[in-house]
Amino acid sequence: ISKEKGGNVAQFFDESMRNQFQEGLIIENFLRKVVEKGGFELFYQPKFQLGKVSSVEALIRWDDPELGFVSPSTFIPVAEDIGLILRIDEWSLLHACIQNKKWQEEGLFTVPISVNLSAKHFQRDYLVPLIKRALDESGLEPQYLKLEITESVFIKDPDHVACIIHQLRDLGVRISIDDFGKGFSSLHHILYLPIDEIKIDRQFIQAIDQDEKKALLVKSIIELAHGLHLNVVAEGIEEEAERDVLEKMGCDELQGYLFSRPLKKDQMVEFLLSKDRMKI
Ligand code: C2E
Ligand code: MG
Ligand code: MG
Ligand code: MG
Repeated sequence: ISKEKGGNVAQFFDESMRNQFQEGLIIENFLRKVVEKGGFELFYQPKFQLGKVSSVEALIRWDDPELGFVSPSTFIPVAEDIGLILRIDEWSLLHACIQNKKWQEEGLFTVPISVNLSAKHFQRDYLVPLIKRALDESGLEPQYLKLEITESVFIKDPDHVACIIHQLRDLGVRISIDDFGKGFSSLHHILYLPIDEIKIDRQFIQAIDQDEKKALLVKSIIELAHGLHLNVVAEGIEEEAERDVLEKMGCDELQGYLFSRPLKKDQMVEFLLSKDRMKI
């Protein structure tokens, strides 16, 4: 179309789109190198139950010497588009399992570790062997691994996805639905699939103390989930008032900047050993 109009591409492709496009290409090229040569790190964000660390979530970090810090929200979608996500998640998964096993062996703590998995893996058949391999190589027992998946896995071929989830559960790992309520959720999945946990999306948590409708919704979600014997996590808690509301509602686990930001491995250990955490 742009050619017919005299090649004025700019008309259809404005500056911000161009920047996004170029940024995507730059990230793509750098990402290929990092996947080959290394350069990712895992951070860990604790979750709390009754003031104690009850589990940790592994979150990938990429601080590039040239590009600077690149957020996973920026590079994960690029990695999904160019087919690198398998190798990235394979890396996160294995390192999270190895680290958790190490913490157990050091006697620091014995809690499940959560790893985020892209919905892309559910369109293929390698996921179950991939998880098996991470457990085998790390020696971590399956009940100490939780897989965080988003509702978007159910958009394509829900029957196939259900089959994979059953196989994962048979391995003994736990399944958590991340960003619950944000996506194209069909309650059907939480009713009929062997999942263990839902993580209520941050948008429903933010300012929950000031919004009666949000509070009503979250209270109902928690009641429904408990009726189904699911563990409920609230993510993105930043304010004490939000925490108070969620505690009163009987939310099982709490996570957010109020308690702790995602931490480097050594900071995580320091945090666990410090007395400060007892104040929470
Ligand atoms: P997520 O799994 O929903 O993780 C929660 C995100 O919210 C994290 O961002 C976390 O740092 C941030 N967060 C935690 N508490 C708070 C809070 O109180 N307030 C606010 N504003 N934010 C909070 P992060 O680490 O940038 O990760 C973004 C997303 O990238 C994750 O969302 C997850 O979907 C994805 N991701 C991270 N690591 C991996 C990975 O290894 N593999 C895959 N496939 N995805 C990953
Ligand atoms: Mg998550
Ligand atoms: Mg989430
Ligand atoms: Mg989220």
